[in-house]
Amino acid sequence: MKEGVAFLLTHLPICMIYLFMSQQPNKQFPFSFQFPQWRRSGSLQVANTNITSHGDTSTLRVGIIGGGIAGVSVAHALVGKFLRDKRKCDIVVIEGDPYACSNSFNKPVTNQWKAATARNANSMVPAAAMHVFSEKSALWNVLRDTLVEFYELKREQLQSLWPSSTQKITRSEQFAIAPPYFALHLWKCIGSTASSAERWSFITFMKHYLRASLWRNDAHERGKQLVALAAANRNLFLQYSQNSTTFSRGFLSLHRTADSAKQALDEIHEFGESAEMISWERTIQLEPRLGRLPIQPLFTVHRTNDIIANCGAFVKSLVNKCEKTGVLFRNATVKGVIALDGPKPKYRVTFEDGSSDDFDVVVLAAGIRNALLAAGMGLGDYVPIYPLRGYSFTLNFESPVNEEKKIHMNKPFSVDSIYCSSISPTSTRMAGFGEFVGYPEKAGDVPSLGPKILTRYSQVLFPDATNATIAKILPCFRPMSPDDMPLAGEIRPGLFVHGGHGTLGWTLGLATGECVAQAMADYINGGQDTPAMYFEFPDGSKIQRSILSPNRFLN
Ligand SMILES: Cc1cc2nc3c(=O)[nH]c(=O)nc-3n(C[C@H](O)[C@H](O)[C@H](O)COP(=O)(O)OP(=O)(O)OC[C@H]3O[C@@H](n4cnc5c(N)ncnc54)[C@H](O)[C@@H]3O)c2cc1C
Repeated sequence: MKEGVAFLLTHLPICMIYLFMSQQPNKQFPFSFQFPQWRRSGSLQVANTNITSHGDTSTLRVGIIGGGIAGVSVAHALVGKFLRDKRKCDIVVIEGDPYACSNSFNKPVTNQWKAATARNANSMVPAAAMHVFSEKSALWNVLRDTLVEFYELKREQLQSLWPSSTQKITRSEQFAIAPPYFALHLWKCIGSTASSAERWSFITFMKHYLRASLWRNDAHERGKQLVALAAANRNLFLQYSQNSTTFSRGFLSLHRTADSAKQALDEIHEFGESAEMISWERTIQLEPRLGRLPIQPLFTVHRTNDIIANCGAFVKSLVNKCEKTGVLFRNATVKGVIALDGPKPKYRVTFEDGSSDDFDVVVLAAGIRNALLAAGMGLGDYVPIYPLRGYSFTLNFESPVNEEKKIHMNKPFSVDSIYCSSISPTSTRMAGFGEFVGYPEKAGDVPSLGPKILTRYSQVLFPDATNATIAKILPCFRPMSPDDMPLAGEIRPGLFVHGGHGTLGWTLGLATGECVAQAMADYINGGQDTPAMYFEFPDGSKIQRSILSPNRFLN
């Protein structure tokens, strides 16, 4: 009871801040930068002076900030566009992490690279893409899970102080109850340890998140758009991966009740994806490790057309392809972007080491840092992305056991929202949890049940792993968009954003990378008489540009 009251008291300020913000829709950062005069045209914005027009042959400099799936997918898609138009163009991908695949060329991708691209669950899941986070029920789940976690952590504290007086085991130690997934540590997001820019990025995110989840009644429609994007993404992936054997199809989604499994199956069919209900015996046949779970039987939905492939390794293969076509990769951390005054849009990218570089076109593809980079330009309202912490656990095995497939798992699966998939002949990835704890540098001391729960599941499912200890579990931050739709498009002439894929960066990133490249090509080629309404994919499907445009947050 006391904890409940404490929880309400600590979380009351967010409601007040939301009310305050919703009264001031045009609230800008105190250090906002004024841009030269731009003219709006349709949903896109066009500069007074086009930087190029048809027939212009000068070399154009494009800087892409971020070498994760978001940045590299744009670079790769853009190369194709420019080759067709025979336009001279220098593309530079700027990546700050020394372990990123673009900075460690001759080494395999490892989870020393902190990006979500390197630590995710490697599941391309169109049949689960309809589960938007920005809907009413998710909001209540966040609040409920936060309360549960708070209570459990307090009990654990008591247990460690007086082990004999509180014998009851906590939720992080038992399988009978599904563990909490979300957590909201509000004080870390807006409290004294957060910088002013970090605080505003949370408030801006929350303002749009609450609007999308409480006021807009279009979660179902957004789910449909996400599934359609994910299907286009899968087709692009298959097109790029022709003749490759490095991916598998089929995903086992485990449910605790028959009703929940049936509901999931109906939903998948409603959204046009394929799935079937299978018996527990069949489930164990497909993935014998599941027979070790102490909670049995579970109810299985087999999503037959979802794909598992190593996201980091795939991004590395795109980097290699890009390199061959002349794309440059630079290892440097971007400090800020400044719009330069002049007749043509131009941007100065400044680096932590004090140097700088000028570009005609810049793409913000820096994952969770996009919001802060945009805010530094006074454009924070266009990019309300915020980090959501998850955990990533790469389990190693001594040698391949399954001689036929050379992997330690037959089928990827999810149980209690924990994803498990094989990423190489000698390793498997477990991943899960969603915690609002602010930005990574200041979140190290935020307590969490996540690592303990992951360790417990790993020790049951993978007792043969050589490193199933809590110390090996790594945090990993997803760039969340407040309405779940990624941001892919133009902010200002010459300035683009690609990000906010949340839990679905691998499921959507190739398709939205293609969208950003199309928007950039239109801009570079001098625009069209009538701005295009849709982004079109090679499989013939399309999506309305305004749905992904960062301008949507200004309405
Ligand atoms: C635990 C977990 C599991 C997940 N599982 C899945 C899954 O199974 N399927 C799925 O579809 N999605 C999954 N995701 C989501 C997916 O991983 C992300 O949406 C996606 O990786 C985001 O890609 P990104 O390129 O935008 O960001 P990132 O992968 O974070 O890459 C951003 C890059 O930008 C660089 N950067 C940042 N700031 C700067 C700067 N100032 N200067 C230079 N470089 C900079 C960073 O170093 C980084 O390399 C998961 C995420 C997590 C956390």
